[in-house]
Amino acid sequence: MGNVKIGLEVHISLNKGIRTKMFCGCKLPAKPEPNTNCCPVCLAHPGAKPVFNRQVLKHALKLAIALNCGIAKQAIFSRKTYFYPDLPANYQITQYEFPLGTGGYVDLGNKKVSLKRVHMEEDPAALIHPGGVGNAAFTLIDYNRAGTPLIEVVTEPDIESAEDAREFLKKLLSIVEYLGIYDNSTGTMKADANISIRESGYTRVEIKNISGFKEIESALFHETERQMQAAGNNEMIIQETRGWDALLQKTYQMRKKEDEDDYGYIAEPNLTVIDITEEMIDEANKEVPELAQKKAKRLSDNYSISPEDANALAMDMELAELFEKAAKEIDPVFAARWLRKELVAVMKQSKRKIKAAKFDEKQLILLLKMLEKGGLTDVTARELLERLSKKSFDVEEYVKKHELEAVSDKGELRRLCSEAIEDNPKVADDFKAGKEEALNFLVGKVMKKTKGKAKAGETKEIIADLLKQGTEK
Ligand SMILES: [Zn+2]
Repeated sequence: MGNVKIGLEVHISLNKGIRTKMFCGCKLPAKPEPNTNCCPVCLAHPGAKPVFNRQVLKHALKLAIALNCGIAKQAIFSRKTYFYPDLPANYQITQYEFPLGTGGYVDLGNKKVSLKRVHMEEDPAALIHPGGVGNAAFTLIDYNRAGTPLIEVVTEPDIESAEDAREFLKKLLSIVEYLGIYDNSTGTMKADANISIRESGYTRVEIKNISGFKEIESALFHETERQMQAAGNNEMIIQETRGWDALLQKTYQMRKKEDEDDYGYIAEPNLTVIDITEEMIDEANKEVPELAQKKAKRLSDNYSISPEDANALAMDMELAELFEKAAKEIDPVFAARWLRKELVAVMKQSKRKIKAAKFDEKQLILLLKMLEKGGLTDVTARELLERLSKKSFDVEEYVKKHELEAVSDKGELRRLCSEAIEDNPKVADDFKAGKEEALNFLVGKVMKKTKGKAKAGETKEIIADLLKQGTEK
């Protein structure tokens, strides 16, 4: 058993493929102006009754299947009672006794994280604290979010470190993106986490409401450190609920832990029980695509690319699709390397997704083809790739027009190298005296002269060769 035990409750907003809120007709996505997207149902006016949006169940079923869960025979909702301004009815409609999915797991490659449950629930309203929670003179409430659909995925305390948690979330994110039920560019993953360490006899400390990937990992890391330190100083670690201060990067005490029972769950009387039939499960099953893990294995088997490249490609559905198209026309190993390193770097720099960039795939593959044949240098190809990520253009024509072809004439390249040596006699002497880095300086000179159109490797070879000849003379 590990030294650290972490369990996560991850809330994922179903912000893709759903047109209305979970129990009313309010349109999604909500307009940005606060409190313009609500109705008597999601504001819990007396007498207003919820009607369940079946699309939420379809999405949830797909996820429960993709997470290898057992599926409940019926979809049943309960009321979770608590009094807080973000909840106009004073209860949240959720699933309690009978979650949609039970069991299941997420495979991290080297280990599996078991799941307790997967269930559907509505999101409360958003509380806005101008100037930050600690400083705000008042709190505003935006009911646009009230009643939007969420899925909660609850793990067993199988996660053993903050890094493990990040891996788990990465895998989960890839799954919900593959399923087309979540868009990370407009949504956030939120998590509650419980953490305990062996030194305290695994006394559970819960951290509430951490928002976003990076913060979840940081919160887990810092809370683990805090507990380890406390244990080291012989301090008691008490069962409690803590908050996460992203600004100070530390957790703080909120309250002593309440039990689930304090929420006073009762079955929701205004919603009918829905039978989940075999047909419904079959239909959802058909809509579960080949997921990242399986895809990675197939890519590495079919195209003989390294498992590492295959995994990196498969984590992003669009990237994997692009790779398969490219692999039909160029060497797959070459395509895999370029796409997962250079394309991903370009996208990261511009903070965009491949899909959002609307890459002209034909031109991108053409660019890779030219590069593969040696018609372009890596430097030029990278520049063209960046340009292509912004807008489409005819790569071949552009290369011709701007004379960007790699210097392929060996005689010409040799002449340029000689010139660089003659122009920099001192550097050449440095090299002969054993200063290896002098060689890179000369290569740089040739690159500058050719505007990056000389191939670095070839240039280096020629210069080294010329200098050695010089020494032998
Ligand atoms: Zn509404």
